[in-house]
Order: sequence, then structure tokens, then C-alpha cells
Amino acid sequence: MSRTVLVTGGNRGIGLAIARAFAERGDQVAVTHRGSGAPDGLFGVQCDVTDAASVDAAFTEVEEKFGPVEVLVSNAGITADTLLLRMSEDQFSSVLDANLTGAYRVAKRATSKMLRKRWGRLLFIGSVVGLTGGPGQANYAASKAGLVGLARSLARELGSRNITANVIAPGFIETDMTAVLGDDRKKAILEQIPLGRMASAAEVAEVVTWLASDSANYVTGAVIPVDGGLGMGH
Ligand code: NDP
Repeated sequence: MSRTVLVTGGNRGIGLAIARAFAERGDQVAVTHRGSGAPDGLFGVQCDVTDAASVDAAFTEVEEKFGPVEVLVSNAGITADTLLLRMSEDQFSSVLDANLTGAYRVAKRATSKMLRKRWGRLLFIGSVVGLTGGPGQANYAASKAGLVGLARSLARELGSRNITANVIAPGFIETDMTAVLGDDRKKAILEQIPLGRMASAAEVAEVVTWLASDSANYVTGAVIPVDGGLGMGH
């Protein structure tokens, strides 16, 4: 069955791979962007997830085009890595605002319509770092750990209405976000990954589309790693 899917930050990176994977399955896919425009062949809406009015306007545009969002992929995210003693309050709160409060804003806006339909899939892109922590990533790890509490609370609140909420926790994926890592840091990370390589964004997208499919109807409140074994045991 064709669904209406919205992917935040779907204009590039992991979000774009997720959007393309849903489109290939025949779903009606919208992506948000912050001014770059829509990628070829996808419907784009401008949206900044740190601004509730912008989120509301973007959802309204998607609803006018495709109808209510049935599958939400909260993917937009940023990093501002630095050690704690150098981390300004703004560096901490801006990452929380985009990654965690942004997810709350889009989930809240999507859920009002999902409740009426008595069906919905909330998919939050977390990170292995949300479970293991990472030096220089107190802000980012806190935001991604927060998504687990958010998703599990929503899984409990909304389960009776057939709305599931899950977190996908990628490890190291080849995108702009990881392209900035130095060679030494990359080498150190690769040594800790049992599969010995980074993943493509498409490998994350495979798991996300599965979680939204009928094959995963009984999966909720889960944190699914896509990390080559990096976070095993957490
Ligand atoms: P990119 O940096 O390649 O892309 C980030 C996306 O988020 C862009 O589309 C960006 O939009 C969007 N975005 C950022 N801030 C906002 C905002 N305030 N409002 C709306 N959109 C915003 O990142 P990745 O594709 O690598 O990461 C995607 C998600 O996956 C993130 O949540 C990230 O934390 C997570 N992740 C990534 C991993 C990796 O190894 N790459 C590992 C684990 C998790 P714009 O183009 O306008 O900047």
C-alpha cells in the first residue's frame, strides 16, 4: 500500500537515501530542506525544525499535496563537537534544539493526524553515540539518547492507536557529517567496527523502510542499530 512519507533533512545524506528508498517502493514522499530546493524527482518543502511555525507550515503543504503524513522520519540533525570545557551553552542547546526538540516538534505535528487515522509510523534517526557516548560529543550524544526516551514514551502513549515509534541508531555512515573527520580519527573508528568499514546511507535506508513496512507491525519502542557491530552490548 502506498503511504505518505515525510523525511526531515531529506535533501541530502542519510535522509535523501531514505526518501529515495521510500519513493522506489511507490510511496508518496516529501522531504524538507532549508533553502537548497528539492532533490530531483522528490517533493520538497522548506522547513527549519527549530521553528514550530515553520514545521506547521511544512506539514500543511505536504497535507495539501499528498494528505496526512503516515510515516514520519525525523532525520534532520547537526553536530557541534568539542570537549565539554570548551563547549558553550549555545553549542549545547542548539544541538539539543535541532536534534531532540526538533524531533518533538515534528512528531507532535504528525501525531495529531495519525491519531485520527489510527495508524502511524514514527521513525527517529538516533546514533550509536546516543548509547555509548563519545568524547567531544556531550551535546550530540545527549540529544540522541533523548530520542530513545522520546520514542519509548510515544510508543507507550500511542500504541493503542496502532502508532509505533522506533529509533534507528546508525554507526559511521558515509555522508557530509562524517566527511569532516580526520584520517586518524577515521582509522581509530574503523578499528572498533567489527565489519571493518563505514556504511552507505542506503544501508540505513533499508532498515528504515523495513520498520515502516507491514513486516515490522509488531515492533515499537525499539532501538535498532545499523552500525556494523560498533555499539554491540548497549
Ligand atoms: P548531513 O549533515 O549530511 O545532513 C543533515 C541534514 O539535516 C541536512 O538535510 C540538513 O539540512 C538537515 N538539518 C540540519 N539542521 C536542520 C534544521 N534545523 N531544520 C531542518 N533540517 C535540518 O547528515 P547525515 O545525513 O549524516 O545525518 C542525518 C541524520 O543521521 C542526523 O540526525 C545524524 O545525526 C544521524 N546520524 C548520522 C551518522 C553518520 O555517520 N553520518 C551516524 C549516526 C547518526 P541542510 O541541507 O539545510 O543543512
